[in-house]
Amino acid sequence: MSAIIPAASVLVARGPGSREIFSILRGSQLRFFGGFWAFPGGKLAAEDDDPTIDPIQQKLRARRVAACRELFEETGILIVRRPDGSFPTRDADLDRCRHALLDGSLTFPHMLAERGLILCDGDFPLIGEITTPAFAAVRYATTFFTAHLPVGQEADIWPGELESGEWIAIQDLLVRWRRGEICLTPPTAMTLQTLGQHPVESAPQLLGPLLERLAQGAEHPIFIAPCVRMLPLKTVALAPSTHTNAYFVGNGPCYLIDPGPDEPAEQARLFGVIDEQLQAGQSLTAIVLSHHHRDHVGAAVACANRFRLPIWAHARTAEKLQGRVPIARTLCDGDRLGLGPSPGDGRPWSLEVLHTPGHASGHLVFADSHYGLVFAGDMVSTLSSMVIAPPDGDLALYLQSLRRLRALPCRMLLPSHGNASTQAAQVIDAALEHRAKRERQLLDTLATGPAAIDEMTERMYRGTPEALMHFARAQVLAGLLKLQAEGIAQPVDEERWQLG
Ligand SMILES: [Zn+2]
Repeated sequence: MSAIIPAASVLVARGPGSREIFSILRGSQLRFFGGFWAFPGGKLAAEDDDPTIDPIQQKLRARRVAACRELFEETGILIVRRPDGSFPTRDADLDRCRHALLDGSLTFPHMLAERGLILCDGDFPLIGEITTPAFAAVRYATTFFTAHLPVGQEADIWPGELESGEWIAIQDLLVRWRRGEICLTPPTAMTLQTLGQHPVESAPQLLGPLLERLAQGAEHPIFIAPCVRMLPLKTVALAPSTHTNAYFVGNGPCYLIDPGPDEPAEQARLFGVIDEQLQAGQSLTAIVLSHHHRDHVGAAVACANRFRLPIWAHARTAEKLQGRVPIARTLCDGDRLGLGPSPGDGRPWSLEVLHTPGHASGHLVFADSHYGLVFAGDMVSTLSSMVIAPPDGDLALYLQSLRRLRALPCRMLLPSHGNASTQAAQVIDAALEHRAKRERQLLDTLATGPAAIDEMTERMYRGTPEALMHFARAQVLAGLLKLQAEGIAQPVDEERWQLG
């Protein structure tokens, strides 16, 4: 279970009554939603909890200080007051301070104290808190505030963690998101949709109750794009993976990709979200399966029965699930599933089916026609490498499928395990490089003479927990079978392999 990091974020409006907000583009290299648009903010620093700044409101003090400090560091906007109640204007001294804060040679409380500047609670009204749901490898408990740009100040982004930032009307941000021109982090999308036409200062009133419901356990509306919702379901999966992502995609006709595990509590969550989707006017057409593994199909039958839905999958998946999960339609490479009008331009929107064998013989990937989303199933994960277990798993086919995936235009990779990524090429390249490294290790081991599979596994996977060793052994076997097909290695007997 990952630790939850306290953080703060600010919705800054251009001025009182304004619907224009300052949004930032997170650097593509960042692990947490790199390449997504969000609001300024960041995690708490130790010195943010400074009683000299606010001796009374201990609980919120550090969060408010962090919000104020992060806003200044990231955008240059400084919302503190001089003793006469006025706001400071931008000058060379403040720019020097900003540099010094960023390089760690100055602390924020020190900077304020030296200049007699005061952080006023009233300048940062509280909206509420959002904690990243449990599926993510990095989780934040972020307290959100609103604020106004002081007269005489402007925002600018310095090169660093953020790529850019701009003042933009809430509605314009949503239009760009619907068209697929930008990615929004799920809390940002939720916030903007809730605010709609309202000015930023109505955020506490409009968003507060929603955040309260989330804190009490309501399902997070994780919208990856308009009409594309992700629901991470807790599974007994291979570490470090703890969840399998189900996805809803479609505008009118809607598909559920991989209904996840058969645990009753998780099924209840899934059913709850399906009810929500139906209430929102979506009509589920079918359940589609990426492949036959249990953490992806466990809830398929219960879900199909309850909502009277057919289940669609590749013919090889249908074979694997025979007698357990009835497949009403087999899906083939090149099939297109209609998703209704695209939320961006109203033109026909669809999912293309790609057969990508390797991890499983019937593995399917789904690519959408409007946003450049690739629902990657278990082809790759943003958490770890995938298991290729013969005989159904085939390493040579897996590498071919990975290269095919690499060639797809992809704005966002949506794996079954781990968070969404705007860095599809890097994720896939890392998977290819990992396999190449394992093959080099295998060849090095075989170069010293015939070796048993267990021996090679011990050597190549030293330090792997005992419980995972049989998966490691499957990887070695998959590697050997690939080398055999290429005429590079061959079995000597039941256990031992050699080059040639
Ligand atoms: Zn799998």
